[in-house]
Amino acid sequence: MSEYPKIFILGPQGAGKGTQAAKITKLLKIPHVVMSDLLLGEVKKNTTLGKKINSIITKGRLVPDAMSSAMMINRISQPDCRRGWLIDGFPRAKLQASYFNKKFLPNIIIHLHFSDTIAIQRLSGRRVCDRGHVYHLKYQPPRRSGYCDVDGLPLKIRYDDTPAAIRTRLNIFHRRTEPVIELYRKQATIIKVDARPSIDRVYRATVRELKKIPWLSSRLSKK
Ligand code: ADP
Repeated sequence: MSEYPKIFILGPQGAGKGTQAAKITKLLKIPHVVMSDLLLGEVKKNTTLGKKINSIITKGRLVPDAMSSAMMINRISQPDCRRGWLIDGFPRAKLQASYFNKKFLPNIIIHLHFSDTIAIQRLSGRRVCDRGHVYHLKYQPPRRSGYCDVDGLPLKIRYDDTPAAIRTRLNIFHRRTEPVIELYRKQATIIKVDARPSIDRVYRATVRELKKIPWLSSRLSKK
């Protein structure tokens, strides 16, 4: 049976989705597809669509559901996603999920969870480079202070990590994104992981759960 890992990673801002997704996609050898990269890619091209997206996301708002779903479907239709994918930062609402589900269905949902208070504390230390590599001043510092280990680019505060935008995004998460998980109870394996421990512990807890999935465990033990 050719089942491939098709994963959504969901959780509040700061829970470590990007951090864990980078490790899991390396383990499973599947593309790490980040919604915000697709959006920022369009913004950089400075198209009419890009300008529209820019004015929405700098306010901490969400782009229209049909727009983000169409961009994501387009990305997942590329040949590198034929043997599985992990999507980070999408879907953010039930409507987005239902547009996407007309073309693709996830078979694993990784749900990282913790409180908003911890989320805000964590995000105040987040630093990123322009290519999207993620660090934390306290928990995951780069080797050379202020610069990315991978590409040497200067580290910055993410464009939407201002306190007001963080609060807006956490509220939207609870109201609109959390209910998405319920849509997949029947058809996907839901892995719920406590996001409070260290990066390594969260990763190990996630891999332990992935290994319990029969069709995936044989693939993981071959490595
Ligand atoms: P998300 O994608 O869910 O918003 P990130 O992966 O960007 O979260 O992580 C948010 C910040 O917290 C980053 O600075 C990251 O280095 C740090 N971080 C991620 N996971 C942990 C963890 N388990 N413990 C401490 N800090 C973490």
